[in-house]
Amino acid sequence: MKNNDPKLIIVSAPSGCGKGTIMASAFENCDVFYSVSCTTRSPRPEDIPGKTYNFLTVEEFEKMIAEDGFLEHACYSGNYYGTPKKPVDDNLAAGKDVILEIETQGAFQVKELRPDTASLFILPPSVAELERRLRKRGTEDEETIAKRVSQAAGEIAQADKYDYVIMNADIDKAVEDFLAVINGIKGVAGPATQFSPENENIKEMIREVLENA
Ligand code: 5GP
Repeated sequence: MKNNDPKLIIVSAPSGCGKGTIMASAFENCDVFYSVSCTTRSPRPEDIPGKTYNFLTVEEFEKMIAEDGFLEHACYSGNYYGTPKKPVDDNLAAGKDVILEIETQGAFQVKELRPDTASLFILPPSVAELERRLRKRGTEDEETIAKRVSQAAGEIAQADKYDYVIMNADIDKAVEDFLAVINGIKGVAGPATQFSPENENIKEMIREVLENA
């Protein structure tokens, strides 16, 4: 891949990490195509069908799997989630950088299929804080919250497999770090090597987030 080739970028963060807020403010400053996923979960009040997700029935989703319509798909918290292949490929072919906001199972599928994909993990300040944010959102019942918290801890334990790791403790700093990583990947700024999990301080940050559960 040449340096100015369009980039495929994965962003993962357990729900409750505030990734929606980071990405919304970051996109005002970034020219990228945001891939709209398909899911079988029920829409939340803030969801806009066709914009936040395409909401499908299980039958519709499974038909799309059978037709090889997904770049990747996964089952998360009892629902299907998947990245439609065509819009990703059409945008890359048109020279646009593409961002996939997906969980870890899907992220590793894409990395295997397309090894030159760049990946970024957004950490919450702690697992306890993530739980507090999920509860504050008030859209899930206790059982779903418990399921999501345990799933989140499993995902955070895999953050060191990503190319870059940032933390959302302070929203302005998180947006700044997010843009530094994305611009580094796009080649419009130097590579954001300070966020690589090969650095001891990033490894330590991941350990601390998991310990503060
Ligand atoms: P939520 O239900 O909170 O919107 O999303 C739950 C999880 O599914 C999040 O970690 C989100 O990043 C992930 N997700 C959203 N779309 C996709 C997708 O197309 N594929 C995969 N594998 N995960 C997705």
